[in-house]
Amino acid sequence: MYSPKKSARFLLAALLLGCSTKDQTLKIGLLMDTLQTERWQHDRDAFVKRAGELGAKVLVQVANGNDATMNSQAENLLTQGVNVLVVIPHNGTASATIVEAAHKANVKVMAYDRLIMNSDLDLYVSFDCVSVGVRQAEYLVKRQPKGNYVLIGGAPTDNNAVLFRQGQMQVLKPYIDRGDIKIVGDQWAKDWLPVEGLKIMENTLTRAENKVDAVLASNDGVAGGAIQALAEQKLAGKVLVTGQDADIAACQRIVDGTQSMTIYKPLTQLANKAAELAVLMAKNEPLKDPTTPVPNGKRDVPSILLVPVSVDKENLDATVIADGFQKKDEVYKNQPKVAESVQK
Ligand code: BGC
Repeated sequence: MYSPKKSARFLLAALLLGCSTKDQTLKIGLLMDTLQTERWQHDRDAFVKRAGELGAKVLVQVANGNDATMNSQAENLLTQGVNVLVVIPHNGTASATIVEAAHKANVKVMAYDRLIMNSDLDLYVSFDCVSVGVRQAEYLVKRQPKGNYVLIGGAPTDNNAVLFRQGQMQVLKPYIDRGDIKIVGDQWAKDWLPVEGLKIMENTLTRAENKVDAVLASNDGVAGGAIQALAEQKLAGKVLVTGQDADIAACQRIVDGTQSMTIYKPLTQLANKAAELAVLMAKNEPLKDPTTPVPNGKRDVPSILLVPVSVDKENLDATVIADGFQKKDEVYKNQPKVAESVQK
């Protein structure tokens, strides 16, 4: 017999069931420092894609370099019931509060690419940053074992910037101690801003009366700024310059000859791995990958560190382009076509 009461109850049950099925979709909160540096767009896209393939929904928030914004975005995602938080901190120290807040809500936290300091962080997934610094400095000393060097570090608030410098100094120290290499400029670029690289380089060139042989720039953004300053003095292409990220502009400068090298970090590998692990963490399932302990001031954080690749003119095609990370047409767009130069 039809009973309005029964059917209302049925409707309610169906609705509740509908809601609870919907709630079972895993939700990953992805907190990002910025999308200003080109690489982070690759990271976001690859992460969201892989998580989606695994049936998880990613809620992305971008803090635009503001710690207070990142903290409130974290609170907000926790209120929305995310099952795990993946954080690319702007400030490795300030973001410890995010880990605390998440743990209070029984939500695990993964630090993506940049470590979160002094916290009970659950997992850290990144590239080996010390080895990035080693590769940058090795590239320079091999080609310029003596001379005047300028060091342009990254954001002092980013633990990665500290690790890159650690790796760079491992290589440079004996050369400096012997007096073969002289450091004529050494500064850190606030928030990794290219304009900081420009200012640092302009000031250093003035101070050193343009006597600079190599610029150890920690990423492509600050390298771009430094190269602009070198160009103003007609020195672009005459001074070795390192970088990192294989940004499109940096790849173009490498084929143009104004930037010597970059460090290519296959971001799809990183994003895929992180998304797969985030899904397991969201489900509270054990992670099977072998981890390395990385101290963050409070604990040894189980970490997965991928291997970066040193890239210059010689292997750009076989790495960055072959992987589809940057498109060949784009990279070589300022170069005269081979067919035309043959005709000449
Ligand atoms: C990343 C670099 C990036 C820099 C600026 C670092 O933490 O490891 O790949 O260039 O931040 O965004």
